Amino acid sequence: MSAAALHVRGLTAGYGPVTALRDVSLDVPEGACVAVLGGNGAGKSTLLRALSRTLAFHGGAATAGTVTFAGRPLHGLPPDRVVVAGLCHVPEGRQVFARMTVEDNLRAGALTAARGGRAAAVRRVHELFPVLAERAGQRAGLLSGGEQQMLAVARALMASPRLLLLDEPSLGLAPLMAARIADTVREINAQGTSVLLVEQNAALALRLASHAYVLEVGEVAIEGPAGELAASDEVRRRYLGVV
Ligand code: ATP
Repeated sequence: MSAAALHVRGLTAGYGPVTALRDVSLDVPEGACVAVLGGNGAGKSTLLRALSRTLAFHGGAATAGTVTFAGRPLHGLPPDRVVVAGLCHVPEGRQVFARMTVEDNLRAGALTAARGGRAAAVRRVHELFPVLAERAGQRAGLLSGGEQQMLAVARALMASPRLLLLDEPSLGLAPLMAARIADTVREINAQGTSVLLVEQNAALALRLASHAYVLEVGEVAIEGPAGELAASDEVRRRYLGVV
């Protein structure tokens, strides 16, 4: 078993009477970028919340299945211990602390002592996102949408995750900004951080990922190497808008 691989088996989760994920199994090998595609309500965000153990904040719970990371079971851990274990979740919707400065947002991300030290983590995110160094003293709420998304990703990187869980990082961004975010995700992955990328923008996700899963009504409907999915008629018709 590789050191920082994620293995999900038979995961079932929901919100009270609503079952949002049913018997989902997937793997993120160490160092990989894996995509999860699917339409509205397919269960993508629920999957990431189940992995980061934050479902309870949304009134949900995982009811069956196992999740192991680096050989350790994650079920039963509180969310902060999941971060310490090496998983960081960037939720949908650029949830930065709007009234705090960019710099203080980054500090907040390093509360769980970054592996290798906070100063090194700040240097790394400033190299990845130079605009955050330029705007260090500015309130986060004054950044553009794309810059706020960069800050949300950067804040998660401050904890030096081994696996980054990204929920729709391109959502609502102009194509040029979405492409910049995608370039940065590729760079983060190339530097050795594994990525589990949830996206409705299937074309973008299949360019970044080596392997992909398609969720439909809470279940894995299709999975395979990203290149095969990008070439599949069904995926092209249903998710890439090719007629
Ligand atoms: P989207 O791209 O629209 O966010 P998604 O694939 O991320 O979709 P989820 O947000 O995981 O899908 O939702 C899966 C199902 O769970 C949907 O039926 C949704 O209505 C339901 N759901 C999501 N969040 C909650 C919640 N907090 N309480 C009750 N039901 C929820």
